[in-house]
Amino acid sequence: MTTMPTVTGRPDGPHLIAPCPYCRGEHVHGRGTGPALADCHPIEGLGAYHLVDPDEPEVVWQAAPLNPTPQPARLRLV
Ligand SMILES: [Zn+2]
Repeated sequence: MTTMPTVTGRPDGPHLIAPCPYCRGEHVHGRGTGPALADCHPIEGLGAYHLVDPDEPEVVWQAAPLNPTPQPARLRLV
């Protein structure tokens, strides 16, 4: 997995202005935190960065535990 640079955007109406880590310019995206793709990158598909909308808290995905904690076996009272 490649690491994406994180960029904090500047809200501008319905848009988010992102300072681009690749071309040092600014790109206009829609609002919302999430992965964005800069079309300035010479290699198609590699201009990705993680765009943070300061007005929208970042959703942190938490991996579910692979194996739930095993419950102790119940003592069967006869
Ligand atoms: Zn760019």
